[in-house]
Amino acid sequence: MIKKTILVWFRNDLRISDNEMLSFASDKGNAILPVFIYDTRAYAETNYGTRKTGILRAKFINESVQDLQRSIRSLNGELIIERGLPEEILPELARQYQIDEVYHHREVAYEETKVSALVEEALWKLQLNLRHFIGHTLYHKEDLPFPIKDIPDDFNTFKKKVSRESSIRPSIKFPENLSFLEIADQWNVPELKDLGYNDNEIELAATSGILGGEIEAKRQLTLLLCGDVVESRLSPWISLGCLSVHTYYHSLVSCVDYPKAVLNKLMDELWWHDYYRFMFKKHGNQFFKLKGFSKAEPSYSGGDDLFESWKSGNTDNVQVNSIMETLNKTGYISHAERVKVAVYLVNDLQISWLKGAAYFEDKLIDYNPATNYGSWAHIAGVGSSFKNNLKNIS
Ligand SMILES: Cc1cc2nc3c(=O)[nH]c(=O)nc-3n(C[C@H](O)[C@H](O)[C@H](O)COP(=O)(O)OP(=O)(O)OC[C@H]3O[C@@H](n4cnc5c(N)ncnc54)[C@H](O)[C@@H]3O)c2cc1C
Repeated sequence: MIKKTILVWFRNDLRISDNEMLSFASDKGNAILPVFIYDTRAYAETNYGTRKTGILRAKFINESVQDLQRSIRSLNGELIIERGLPEEILPELARQYQIDEVYHHREVAYEETKVSALVEEALWKLQLNLRHFIGHTLYHKEDLPFPIKDIPDDFNTFKKKVSRESSIRPSIKFPENLSFLEIADQWNVPELKDLGYNDNEIELAATSGILGGEIEAKRQLTLLLCGDVVESRLSPWISLGCLSVHTYYHSLVSCVDYPKAVLNKLMDELWWHDYYRFMFKKHGNQFFKLKGFSKAEPSYSGGDDLFESWKSGNTDNVQVNSIMETLNKTGYISHAERVKVAVYLVNDLQISWLKGAAYFEDKLIDYNPATNYGSWAHIAGVGSSFKNNLKNIS
């Protein structure tokens, strides 16, 4: 049997366990070339003067890539770490290492899927296939009881239908014959200053207290399974794929001692996670429009000074200020805190929800486009699950 060399392009899936791409790639004894690219576009500024990746998430990403590199080295491989544009770098690597196929996990938001399309086009010129995997949702797209275009927009209908008519696949077993391409050179993660952050930012990040990587994700999961907390606080590792939603789900349900009410609450959150990803797949760019899913565009009268006061935690509301300070220092706030500051921005300060979403994009360690923009639209009353939109409830 002819063995192939497969380039595995890591994106928001920075783990070696429960990773379908690695399992498929190592099938039939193929050799794997693992690659991570710091896409320079992901470190640019947004139209609202915020960063697409703030320092706290940049640090978390660096730690996670470093951890992945350690794991791959322990298996006699080397993660190639590059900086630039994937559509230029991947074809170049494919040529250099005589790659037969390229694998990656599919994303759902506009900018990320556009990058995949550019890579696909560039690889196609070399007659190479970009194979897509679906590793971010609890339910596999192929197992849904309806095509993507017919997924119910109402969250409760989505949940009821999918849970009745579909099932969750088991976790992927760690491949026994995982084998990496032998390469002589070594790659390390870039310094934060080389990614464009200044000394003050780097100093702040050093005290954030949340450590990236698959090993830390597993440690956090073990701590969770020992208790009966109602919030897992695992979202940073889930968003960056250091922990798969499957590993999380199967660990939870196999934990017989877990109180049913707490389990249901944690499960419900995973439903929202899947829901937003599938909604992004169905509706795409709609989530980045001010109007969202409503008939009329909402209007906002608050000025820049009010937005600035919210960002820096200098509003008239002490509780909001304290939450924003925590967000700015650590990159993490609880769900209830997110709702509190988002409602305050939109309802009290009358600032566009898109500005709030862009600020969260900059600051949150667990930022992912589907959950963030989906949740903000929901709070502003223009979300996809119209009956559940916060403005319709309150
Ligand atoms: C305005 C706003 C913006 C948000 N932006 C993000 C974001 O960018 N990234 C992000 O991961 N979450 C986001 N959330 C959802 C939610 O607040 C966080 O996922 C949650 O705080 C994570 O806490 P946890 O890990 O303890 O979740 P748990 O309650 O333990 O839930 C388990 C997992 O489910 C997922 N999850 C939990 N709540 C939600 C939810 N409401 N919607 C979708 N998925 C959920 C997370 O991956 C989480 O780790 C946002 C919520 C709001 C209101």
